[in-house]
Amino acid sequence: MARVTVIGGGFGGLASAARLAKLGHEVTLVERLPTLGGALDSISARGFTWDTGPTTTLLPGVVRDLFRKSGRQLDAELDLVAVDLIREHRFADGSSVRLPGGSRGVQYDAFEELEAGLGDLWCDYVASFADDWDLIRRDYLERPLLPETTSKQVQRLLRSRESVYKRLRKTFRDPRLRQVAAYPFVLGGHDPRNVPAWMGMHAYVEQRFGAWTIPGGMVALRDALAARLETRKVRVLTETTATDVVLREGAVVAVATDSGPVDTDVVVCAIDPRRLPVLARHVARTMPAIPPVVCHLGLDGEIPELTSEVVLHGDAELTVRPGGRAPEGGAAWTVLGRGRLSEDILNAMARQGLDVRRHLVTRIDRSPKEQAEHWAGSPMGVLWQGRSTVTERVGPATPVPGVYAAGAHATPGAGIPFVGLSAALVAEAIGPAR
Ligand SMILES: Cc1cc2nc3c(=O)[nH]c(=O)nc-3n(C[C@H](O)[C@H](O)[C@H](O)COP(=O)(O)OP(=O)(O)OC[C@H]3O[C@@H](n4cnc5c(N)ncnc54)[C@H](O)[C@@H]3O)c2cc1C
Repeated sequence: MARVTVIGGGFGGLASAARLAKLGHEVTLVERLPTLGGALDSISARGFTWDTGPTTTLLPGVVRDLFRKSGRQLDAELDLVAVDLIREHRFADGSSVRLPGGSRGVQYDAFEELEAGLGDLWCDYVASFADDWDLIRRDYLERPLLPETTSKQVQRLLRSRESVYKRLRKTFRDPRLRQVAAYPFVLGGHDPRNVPAWMGMHAYVEQRFGAWTIPGGMVALRDALAARLETRKVRVLTETTATDVVLREGAVVAVATDSGPVDTDVVVCAIDPRRLPVLARHVARTMPAIPPVVCHLGLDGEIPELTSEVVLHGDAELTVRPGGRAPEGGAAWTVLGRGRLSEDILNAMARQGLDVRRHLVTRIDRSPKEQAEHWAGSPMGVLWQGRSTVTERVGPATPVPGVYAAGAHATPGAGIPFVGLSAALVAEAIGPAR
């Protein structure tokens, strides 16, 4: 049995700790805040409660696999349900498309309704990622990217200089289709000029597997994992900040923290590795993707009915997530802002066609800087700076023996499903206790 210390109690750290404890290791998790979850948390005011980070996830199989491999099946503990409508995009010209997930046919109909002929264009674009998805899943998402095991096709794909921006310019004349396809990257804080074209497979994943949520709030995932760590006897040290990894003769011996050293044999870094001196020089070229402007709104009165996430495309790109918990007769929305936001976000929303200023009961604003300070890093992970970002990120292994990396800053990137995959890769790389 190895002593494993996981640094960071966000989804990446929780998932790694749960898997490694089930594999028989003696696991300690170190978290600097009093609570676990990182971005997977909630915040409340005046009877309203909002998820602070994720509200849906793609690839539900990743969360299911995590639960199965660390104890009881997911269905025994949580309700993970498919959302009917992934998102509604409202464009500056007044048109809109309501985008369902889970099948080609329903997306075809939605785009045809937007304009005749767009259904085929969209579905052909999405289908063009089917082969890439199979290759990437096998060689990049489900096993470490190593020159000796990675197929030539995947190596070629990852080396390609084509960007999402270029692919979209080539594929779509209609700017609305480009906006829909580029949306996940813009929301993630990236410039589509710097995101490799193969990442467009996001649209394929969304169409094929849909988006999933936990009614009552995604924060329930954090609570279920925290309970699982307790069952698996993981030692959880909250309000403890890891400052570095201590090596003796090249081997890991401890994690240095502000409350003293934690003796250990193996470390999983589930925070931004630039924050640990032992890893910083190995990720010197990476930069964090900045979180969006976040505004949680508590509303009452005659509030417009929003059935799903609504994106208002304009000078600023505003994502309205209506799924928070509110007192009777009210609504709890979260607005995420990207782009040119030189005015109050409520005014920007009103200008872009959704005016709820008269209905405001309470609001909580969280700037990108406040979020990054709160979580001591960005939950959005590493900024895409072109094709080399894939190899400049660490994980599951790192150049330091005995130190592994999971979470949004590790391979394969940010977002619940990818962070979940990073934890699976780390558990596979460390293996069962002997
Ligand atoms: C506003 C917002 C909306 C999002 N929406 C979605 C969505 O709808 N769907 C989706 O899939 N993803 C979404 N994401 C992204 C997703 O939440 C993250 O990619 C994921 O939760 C990151 O998990 P993590 O564990 O890597 O990092 P974090 O959640 O950032 O957790 C890191 C943890 O490490 C702790 N820590 C930092 N430094 C130290 C240290 N030195 N010592 C000890 N502990 C430390 C922090 O306090 C924190 O708890 C969203 C993110 C944000 C911010």
